[in-house]
Amino acid sequence: MKSIYGYSEVDFENYLLSLGEKKFRAKQLIEWVYRHKIKSFDEITNMKKSFIEKLKEDFTIDEFECVKLQESSDGTKKFLFRLSDGNLIETVLMVNEYGYSVCVTSEVGCNMGCAFCASGLKKKLRNLETSEIVLQILMVEKFTNIKVTNIVVMGIGEPFDNYDNVIRFLRIVNNPLGLEIGARHITVSTCGLVPKIYEYSDFDLQVNLAISLHAPTDEIRNKLMPINKTYNIEKLKEAISYYIEKTNRRVTIEYILLDGINDTIDCANKLADLLHGLNVYVNLIPYNEVLEKPYKRSKADNMRAFFDLLKKRRINVQLRREQGSDIDAACGQLRSKEMKKEVLWEEE
Ligand code: SF4
Repeated sequence: MKSIYGYSEVDFENYLLSLGEKKFRAKQLIEWVYRHKIKSFDEITNMKKSFIEKLKEDFTIDEFECVKLQESSDGTKKFLFRLSDGNLIETVLMVNEYGYSVCVTSEVGCNMGCAFCASGLKKKLRNLETSEIVLQILMVEKFTNIKVTNIVVMGIGEPFDNYDNVIRFLRIVNNPLGLEIGARHITVSTCGLVPKIYEYSDFDLQVNLAISLHAPTDEIRNKLMPINKTYNIEKLKEAISYYIEKTNRRVTIEYILLDGINDTIDCANKLADLLHGLNVYVNLIPYNEVLEKPYKRSKADNMRAFFDLLKKRRINVQLRREQGSDIDAACGQLRSKEMKKEVLWEEE
């Protein structure tokens, strides 16, 4: 049996055709699943009984258990969900002036090993299934009674290391008969898997791209992000330029400010040199410190000076508003705490 949430419209059409059914039923199915949010196939009223029985044989309508829900004073909510195989994943809901934004996880753990990241503390155990990424949106809506308007694929895992499932997820959430989340309201973030950036540039939906850059030179980036040893900044920049040329869309550059590591004025100047002439927007992010990591958050004055320098050099930049720092909102922090707790509990 497969999860009903793992099927895109085309997948449903192929399934229907294989049964000798009409293709248009795919649209009806999507409406039942995502608009009416059926809990049982018996709730479907416009399909014949034998077909509903077949759906019951082939698909499950699943849910996650919410193990923990933390709420920040700024309205950010962090969910710890248990998957059917017992693994734990995190999903974060942020309230913005433009709506409700959900940050989804794409893998259980992550192999990219970024030096500052709590998620990288646990190696990747497996990819998330498409349905498990879709369910994060549905579960957040269910537990909070809101309509998600924006999605960032920026939680635990490297989305382009689980490319096919993430692409199918994008098609499902974008479907106008279903969750109807506009492509321009969706952003996928990568640490720099260059071949996949090229592939993504040719993807037919107008989905946004964010790059976790975090350093202006190979010397610094090699220490922070092992992926840079395979695809260095020059190769990454070529791929970003290709994306911009193909899509005519602005790329977001994520840059976490780490005290004494990448937050000097020299770094800001090098970053401005690197990005000069590219259609990008730099998100400067205050670091949420991770107990197991030696890195510290940049001092407020240094963050401000970094920001001012980029502005002076005419780089589009914002210093991101911190969200959920009082609830371990840095990706992986809640999961890693909970896992430790679970291990301790087993040892007792
Ligand atoms: S920052 Fe992203 S890519 Fe890097 S280890 Fe963490 S989850 Fe993986």
